Amino acid sequence: MTARLTADTAIIGGGVIGLAAAWRLAQAGLRVAIIERGEPGREASHAAGGMLAPLAEADSRDAFFDLAVAGRSLYSRFAAELKESTGTDIEYRTEGTLYLSLDECDDEELQRRWEWQHAAGLNVEKLDASFVRTLEPQVAPALRWALKFPDDHQVENRRLVAALLAATRNAGVEIISHTDALRLRIENFAGKKRIVGVVTTQGEVRTGVVVLAAGSWSGLIESDEPVALADVEVEPVRGQMISLEMPMPVVRHVIYSRRGYVIPRLGGTVVCGSTSERAGFDKRVTAGGIAGIIEGAAGMLPAIRELAITEMWAGLRPFAGDGWPILGYDPQVSGLVYATGHYRNGILLAPITAETVTELIVQGEARRDISPFSVRRFATGKRDNGTNEIRGNKRKI
Ligand SMILES: Cc1cc2nc3c(=O)[nH]c(=O)nc-3n(C[C@H](O)[C@H](O)[C@H](O)COP(=O)(O)OP(=O)(O)OC[C@H]3O[C@@H](n4cnc5c(N)ncnc54)[C@H](O)[C@@H]3O)c2cc1C
Repeated sequence: MTARLTADTAIIGGGVIGLAAAWRLAQAGLRVAIIERGEPGREASHAAGGMLAPLAEADSRDAFFDLAVAGRSLYSRFAAELKESTGTDIEYRTEGTLYLSLDECDDEELQRRWEWQHAAGLNVEKLDASFVRTLEPQVAPALRWALKFPDDHQVENRRLVAALLAATRNAGVEIISHTDALRLRIENFAGKKRIVGVVTTQGEVRTGVVVLAAGSWSGLIESDEPVALADVEVEPVRGQMISLEMPMPVVRHVIYSRRGYVIPRLGGTVVCGSTSERAGFDKRVTAGGIAGIIEGAAGMLPAIRELAITEMWAGLRPFAGDGWPILGYDPQVSGLVYATGHYRNGILLAPITAETVTELIVQGEARRDISPFSVRRFATGKRDNGTNEIRGNKRKI
C-alpha cells in the first residue's frame, strides 16, 4: 500500500484524549498526525457532561484518585492556554459541586465520604439544608444536608473539543478525518518488535510512534503482531443525556446525588445525566433511559419538570476492565503508546494524559509513576502460551 504521509507520531482517534495529546506533542516540536474515523471530537467527548469532579464520587484514596486530582489541578491553566491560543472560552467554571442527601441511604454514603475526605485534609464542606438553600433555592424540599466540593469544577466539553481542534490545527497537526485506522504495522528487527506505521482506509501512515486513543473502539484495530491490549476488553458503556432550556437560573452549581447529576451551562441550558448501560455500540437514546434521568434530576430540583427539552443524546464511555485508564507503552512493541479506557473521566484526565504521553514520547519517561495504569495489569499469560486467537498474521486487539 502506498504511504499517505510520514509523521513522528500518529494518533489513532481524534477525541479529547487524542486531540489533547496531539496538541502537546506538536508544541514539543513533533510532526503529528491524527487519524480519525469520523469528524474529530464527535463521540464520547461530545456526549460528556464536562464535570471535573474527582472528589464527588471517591470513597478512598488510590492511584486513580491521585491521578484525577493532579489532572484537575492542571485545568485552569489548560483553559487559559486554550483561550490564548484559539480565542475559545471553554467555560471553565469554579462554583463547585454540591452532593445532596435526600434520604437515609444518601446520609450513609455522604457521611462515609465526608469522614475519609475530611480526615485526609481534602477540600470538602458539610452544609446544612438551610445553608444549601441560600446557595441553591430550587433544591427539593426533601433535602437533608449536602457536601460541597469547592474544587470539583466543570467545563463545557463541546467547546473544549472545538478549542482543542483549533489549537492542534494552529500547532500544525495533520488531521486525517473520515479515515479508519485498520491495522498497526509492526516489524521485527533483530528479535525486537517495533511500530512502523498504521494502515488506514486512505493508505499507510509511516511512523515510529503510535498513540492508541480510539476510545471505546480501541480494541477493534488489528495488528501484525500480538500486542498487550489484547489482554483487556475495552468495552463501550452507554450514557444517555438530556439538556433542557433554563430561561431563569434554576441552578448555579453542579448538583449531584445517587440519582444522577444536573450541570448548568452558561448558554441558558442544564444538562442532566446519565445512564450506565452495556448496549454494545448502540448510541440511541431510550424512553426508559431518559425517563429515569428526568426522574432523578427532578428529585433533586423539582423545577426541572417544567423545562423544555432542547436535546437528547447518548455516548459510549470507554471502559477497560477495572475502570482505570490504560496509559503507557506496550511492554513488547516499541513505539506503541496506550492512552485509552478513560471511562467516566476522560474530560477531567485529558490534560494530564496529554502531558504524560508527551513526556513518554519526548523524554522517554513520565514524571509521575504511571505503573498502576500500565496495560501489564491485565496480563494473563495467554499471549505466551499461544492460546490467543490469531487470524493469519493479523489479530484483533
Ligand atoms: C454521557 C457521558 C457523560 C460523561 N461525563 C463526563 C464528565 O462529566 N467528566 C469527564 O471527565 N468525563 C465524562 N465522560 C467520559 C468522557 O466523555 C470520556 O472518557 C472521554 O470523552 C474519552 O475520550 P476519548 O478521546 O478516549 O474517546 P472518544 O471521544 O470516544 O474519541 C475516540 C475517537 O476515536 C475514533 N476512532 C475509533 N476507532 C477508530 C479507528 N479505527 N480509526 C480512526 N479513528 C477511530 C472515534 O471516531 C472517536 O472520535 C462522559 C461520557 C459520557 C458518554
